[in-house]
Amino acid sequence: MTFTLAIVGRPNVGKSTLFNRLVGRRLALVDDQPGVTRDLREGDAKLFDMRFTVIDTAGLEDVTDDSLQGRMRRLTERAVELADVCLFVVDGRTGLTATDEVFADILRRKNARVMLAVNKAEGKAGDAGAIEAWSLGLGEPIRISAEHGEGMDDLYHALRPLN
Ligand code: GDP
Ligand code: MG
Repeated sequence: MTFTLAIVGRPNVGKSTLFNRLVGRRLALVDDQPGVTRDLREGDAKLFDMRFTVIDTAGLEDVTDDSLQGRMRRLTERAVELADVCLFVVDGRTGLTATDEVFADILRRKNARVMLAVNKAEGKAGDAGAIEAWSLGLGEPIRISAEHGEGMDDLYHALRPLN
């Protein structure tokens, strides 16, 4: 394994869809920290000729609004600590939300190495979302469609220097 990538972002942006695409069936360990075990999934990722470890952050979907922020923060901070780089995923169709801004803030405060992906960008659907995503101040957004497998070449080129 060459590096570890953590996929972070608010619920429903497509993190697990991307994780599953990268990992296929090569699902491996889970984090053994009590309380986050079921919320961090680790797998052996393959992207063309590149192999790395990928972490999916989950477990935010079924909590109430009150507890969401604290939980997001803990999980995301833990993922940042485990990973060499974070892929911060936003939804190119819904546009940015206040919750996206909270995540961006967590990543900034942790001084995490971050790459930004705009998902659900198949076809022209992500055009507006990709432009808006520049405003996060996290660099050039990588347009992807986790579901349809688009933009995987751009993701590859962004991650290649880490390998
Ligand atoms: P997570 O909560 O961030 O892990 O998001 P999921 O991977 O569970 O996906 C949430 C929803 O978005 C599901 O209904 C997916 O089918 C859908 N989705 C994920 N990736 C894409 C994509 O690239 N394009 C579109 N149109 N939908 C997607
Ligand atoms: Mg998920």
